[in-house]
Amino acid sequence: MKIWMDGQLLDEDKARVSVMSHTLHYGTGVFEGIRSYASEDSTVVFRLMDHLDRLERSAQAMNLKVRYSKTQLRDAVIDVLCQNNLTDAYIRPLIFVGAGSLSLNFHAAQSPVGVLVAAQKWDRYFESDELTGITVATSIGRRITSQPELHQAKVSGFYANSYAATMAAQAAGAVDAILLDERGFIAEAAVANVFLVRGGKLHTPTCRAALAGYTRDSIIHLAAGLGLEVHEGDLTVEDMLAADEVFLTGTACEVVPVTKVDKKIIKNGAAGPITRQLHTAYQHAARNRHSFKSNVSIDKKSIAA
Ligand code: PMP
Repeated sequence: MKIWMDGQLLDEDKARVSVMSHTLHYGTGVFEGIRSYASEDSTVVFRLMDHLDRLERSAQAMNLKVRYSKTQLRDAVIDVLCQNNLTDAYIRPLIFVGAGSLSLNFHAAQSPVGVLVAAQKWDRYFESDELTGITVATSIGRRITSQPELHQAKVSGFYANSYAATMAAQAAGAVDAILLDERGFIAEAAVANVFLVRGGKLHTPTCRAALAGYTRDSIIHLAAGLGLEVHEGDLTVEDMLAADEVFLTGTACEVVPVTKVDKKIIKNGAAGPITRQLHTAYQHAARNRHSFKSNVSIDKKSIAA
């Protein structure tokens, strides 16, 4: 596998960082998860420019000075896909702090900020089939919301919280966790946003304690196009249990039905009709280069595959 690292395409075993890297010790990196999709005449990198905007905002929120522009990072993503002959892929840009200082307050001159872009095949985030549905468990640990300016940043260290919640959910027999905000309302899942369907209408928590996911945003757009109402507001675990349908959205997991919450079956325990409809709409949008302005498409000829 070829990895783009600080302007160079390197073999994976040559793309190395020091064990004393600040980010390895303190989780001070920021990252993105992006998907590309094979379409008839091209490869669509779904909402790539939006993801690169969020990466830039995450870096700013963490005071990491990135030496590459969004255009350069866009080209890096395209290069990584082409050089690895990937079409349907999961793409991972990461901005990290290298070795230099073990002080939390590192100095950029001492500890360089590095950038890498990797890509791999990753068909499904959850092991089950796309529409089988997953089970979730409510986490005791709350979603981190300490500093408002960091709420929308994808900071590596925050994922220790999501990881701990996922481990606890798995110990309770579920595959993913639902994290609540500090008031006890649903924030989001470990790496995905939450939607409920009730009486034919969609409901989703606001982004005050959740990442404003691009899949969430895409679903809100697609739902409007299908004439479905979407409401953003406070939701409880009881709302989830009483819902007709529940599903999660995220770049990695796409649109995934939830069939059990805290061991209780939702409705009849299968993916509901609106979830199915939106799943199909999302799959079409992801493969359509014109579906969102921020998509970037790569001509088929550029990728040998
Ligand atoms: N919440 C969290 C905590 C996430 O890590 C992700 C994945 N980026 C999401 C929600 C969904 O965001 P997106 O749809 O932009 O992938």
